[in-house]
Amino acid sequence: MPKKTFESIIKQLSKINYRHKISFSGYCEPVFDKRLPEFVRYARLLLPNAFISIGSNGDFLTKEKYNELVDAGIDYIVVCRHDGKTMPFQADKMLVKFNIDNTSLYNRGGLVEVKNSMFNAKMCILPVTRLFIRTSGSMSLCCNDFFDENSLGNKKNESLFKIWKKSSKFRHNVANGKLISKIKVCRKCTGLEKGGMGVSIPKKS
Ligand code: SF4
Repeated sequence: MPKKTFESIIKQLSKINYRHKISFSGYCEPVFDKRLPEFVRYARLLLPNAFISIGSNGDFLTKEKYNELVDAGIDYIVVCRHDGKTMPFQADKMLVKFNIDNTSLYNRGGLVEVKNSMFNAKMCILPVTRLFIRTSGSMSLCCNDFFDENSLGNKKNESLFKIWKKSSKFRHNVANGKLISKIKVCRKCTGLEKGGMGVSIPKKS
């Protein structure tokens, strides 16, 4: 993601004193980007109350890099070792996950086959609880829409808040299940947070 785009997102969030989670993840290996500590530091400076995390496969996460990220203000690092290899070091702010074979996985809107999918889509709260911004600045329906078939807008053209607000009805209709059968990726999706599984669906504001 261009630095300018990233800084613009963080500046917008700082205006509302954003205090929830920011995750540097998606279809990428975030540690591979040399600018990561700089980005974390910038987010920490402008969003002192946010919970800043990354998801990583651990391949490039050395002890030095870990220390650099902690020094920049990161709160948490989730390392998924799909290959089962142990990490060469253990640290406080790092959670290493193994046993991927026993884990429920997303099928990325039907794009890949997985052994242990969660369930079939009926309702999905992802679009009303998480905001997924791609490197292009496009806000996707969710992290499982790999090809961005359901972009909600692009922050290069509108503010994050404007896009979030104008897409509210659409997102809530995915959450309450009215649109699930009409959206291709949702129809095929097996990994999601589904109403009726103890997950409540927020009311439309
Ligand atoms: S059903 Fe799947 S593809 Fe659709 S919004 Fe939910 S997680 Fe995304």
